[in-house]
Amino acid sequence: MIVGDLKPLDEIVSSVAGYRRILVLGCGSCVTVSLSGGDREAAALVRELNCMVKTDGAPVSFEVGTVLRQCEKDLVSSFCEVPPDTDAILSLACGAGVQTVGDAFEPLPVIPALNTTFIGASDEAGVWREMCHGCGDCLLGVTGSICPVARCAKSLFNGPCGGSQGGRCEIYIERPCAWAMIYFRLKKQNKLHLLHEVRMPRDWRTATAAGPRERRRTGIGGSAGETNKSAQ
Ligand code: SF4
Ligand code: SF4
Repeated sequence: MIVGDLKPLDEIVSSVAGYRRILVLGCGSCVTVSLSGGDREAAALVRELNCMVKTDGAPVSFEVGTVLRQCEKDLVSSFCEVPPDTDAILSLACGAGVQTVGDAFEPLPVIPALNTTFIGASDEAGVWREMCHGCGDCLLGVTGSICPVARCAKSLFNGPCGGSQGGRCEIYIERPCAWAMIYFRLKKQNKLHLLHEVRMPRDWRTATAAGPRERRRTGIGGSAGETNKSAQ
């Protein structure tokens, strides 16, 4: 799940300065679950903005709306209603959602109200942990299903580093060392031999090193399907 946090209110107030009719647009998926960007949060943000936005006499009005997924162009085009005379959209979606809405309603300014933080998984109610960086070349099959890219503070491919102590990470002592976790997981699986295989420096073009990525689903529009192609 994509996790996002509301930007500081002062920053949001600055970013909407000068606009008079603003649609505050929640997203009904990931950020609704993390209670940062759904319709309830959009309504709460409007209440705050009504108190904080200073005008030079001309009133500022806010409308609230929600789209199930702002990251899906079809849903945005079909179900997002922008009231007439809206001069900006304040989006409570992740960066992908903000950009999709921006494309759909170009040239209307679409302003992010959230900082998109990470792809996380929930292991207890209301707590998400970063689990994946979307690197495009998953190696969980040889690391006991524990990601060293996202969960090791140094993203090491051959670990642990020399600072791992008592199963704790030297960078964040309160957190477990990802490579210690990998060791104990592989041990339980009788796969410790995997740790003896030295992994060469990887080709990060599958991640963000080759620019924005694109994936085409197999079979759509007669396509044979392609994955992990650079979009540019
Ligand atoms: S190896 Fe890459 S794709 Fe797999 S979980 Fe880690 S970051 Fe995500
Ligand atoms: S202590 Fe473990 S998690 Fe921390 S940087 Fe070293 S190998 Fe990575």
